[in-house]
Amino acid sequence: MKKIKIGSKKWTNKHETFTEKIKNMYVLGNEADLDALNGYNDTTKGFQQLIAEAIQTNTPFRALGAGWSWTKIATVSNGVMLDTKSLNTTLSISQQSVLPTYTGDISKLIFAQCGNGVWELSQQLRQNKLSLKTSGASNGQTIVGAMSTGAHGSAFDVGAVQDYIVGIHIIVSATRHVWLQRQSAQVVSASFIQKLNTVLLSDDDLFNAALVSFGSFGIIHGVIVETENLFLIETYRRRMPYDDTLKTLMQTLDFSTANLPCGNERPFHFSVAINPYDLKNGAYVSTFYKRPYRDDYIRAVPNDAGIGPGDDAPCFIGKVTDVVPALVPTIVNKLIGSAMAPFEKQFGTLGEIFNNTDLHGKLLSAAIGIPLNQVNRVTEILFEINKSVGPFAGIFAYRFIKKSNALLAFTHFDFTCILELDGAFSTATQNFYTAVWNRLDAEQIPYTFHWGKMNAMNFDKIKIMYGNNVETWIAARNKLLDKDSLKVFTNPLLTQWGLAKVL
Ligand SMILES: Cc1cc2nc3c(=O)[nH]c(=O)nc-3n(C[C@H](O)[C@H](O)[C@H](O)COP(=O)(O)OP(=O)(O)OC[C@H]3O[C@@H](n4cnc5c(N)ncnc54)[C@H](O)[C@@H]3O)c2cc1C
Repeated sequence: MKKIKIGSKKWTNKHETFTEKIKNMYVLGNEADLDALNGYNDTTKGFQQLIAEAIQTNTPFRALGAGWSWTKIATVSNGVMLDTKSLNTTLSISQQSVLPTYTGDISKLIFAQCGNGVWELSQQLRQNKLSLKTSGASNGQTIVGAMSTGAHGSAFDVGAVQDYIVGIHIIVSATRHVWLQRQSAQVVSASFIQKLNTVLLSDDDLFNAALVSFGSFGIIHGVIVETENLFLIETYRRRMPYDDTLKTLMQTLDFSTANLPCGNERPFHFSVAINPYDLKNGAYVSTFYKRPYRDDYIRAVPNDAGIGPGDDAPCFIGKVTDVVPALVPTIVNKLIGSAMAPFEKQFGTLGEIFNNTDLHGKLLSAAIGIPLNQVNRVTEILFEINKSVGPFAGIFAYRFIKKSNALLAFTHFDFTCILELDGAFSTATQNFYTAVWNRLDAEQIPYTFHWGKMNAMNFDKIKIMYGNNVETWIAARNKLLDKDSLKVFTNPLLTQWGLAKVL
């Protein structure tokens, strides 16, 4: 494995919302003169050496994806960070590598090394007329960085990124690496395990724990992704009255009597955004439908503000800076009016519609998962708090996702509405967040926090959110990692959340 120690003593996340003091940053790469499999296996050994060094020198360390998280989840104070983005090998999966009992389509499985960008995988899959099943609104994350916090879009019947991962290769110590898959849905054969010189663990709890484990289960070196045939998305954004009809839709996801662009067809993606300063003109409703792929479609184009159909608020809210409260409505109206301009019947593949890998200015982003039946009550609360604590320099945005099997996925309810509060980088925004979380607690409204976005979690809250899943997750971490590894893969945030327990 190639390893360049770049000597940085501090690290700043992509959004420049925090800086952490670190000991060093290593940029990693596969050896160029080895073929894909041998290069991958050589890098596995390289990771093990790094873990051995970390243990010897008592230095905590952690893998970094694309650095897109707002929380200090990918970093470790006074430790070593590993830039994994160049570890972007992919391997196709042969029939021999898969168990005869696997019920899926082998030709749609792809083995991806951790650093593959979501955008990069999409481009590669397209060459074989395949596609990822879903992604976030933007696609600059690495595949493992995205799954590790449970990143999601609004393909509500599909799930989040981790929901299409069916095998995980983790380097858990200086001497051990394992292949994890579900006992109840086994995929790979002994031949595959031999190719990676690894050890097979088929176990639902271990697998479901590792899926969303934010760097604390070791180094996830590679994953098997279940993909599907390349498809097109037909996209619409309309302004619709925020009335009982829309509220019922958001609270039920029952499209049987919906009057959306394609009538009552159940969409692939449904999301709503409310500009609290322009409600009289309606909410912004994005309805995207899945269509068979064809070559002769006219590609969607960004609007005058440079924003494409799939882009969400983090792509443009950074342009709202900390302004005096009286100006907030005017500034938000001006920005949203151009960035979220309605459009009709724009087409693209998943990778084209959800394609923004650029960041435009500093912003704060928080996302909470709430059960569908609480959506409208929570919106009432937001309007109330906007009056008393606001004005919030941002918008209220809603996406929807079915329940994940990952133990700590924040898409935790049967169908989770993900409420996103993207706003200006300011103390006022933080105060607004705090008031909202306090009110949800006071009203005992169940909710979960996105692990990679602004949040206010501690162990007690996490227990309320996830119940017994928390203990199962901690037990899984203790089963996979030995005492030395538990120590090096612990960062201050994990400790603060009470998840670093050694059993
Ligand atoms: C513009 C923008 C838009 C966004 N849109 C969405 C969205 O639509 N939906 C959504 O859910 N989120 C969204 N986010 C949040 C983002 O998707 C998540 O925070 C995601 O986890 C970031 O992925 P990353 O590759 O940058 O990982 P990082 O932030 O670098 O790391 C995330 C976690 O993964 C761990 N990790 C990374 N690689 C490895 C590895 N090889 N082994 C073990 N652990 C590893 C890290 O240690 C860390 O704990 C957005 C963020 C931005 C900046």
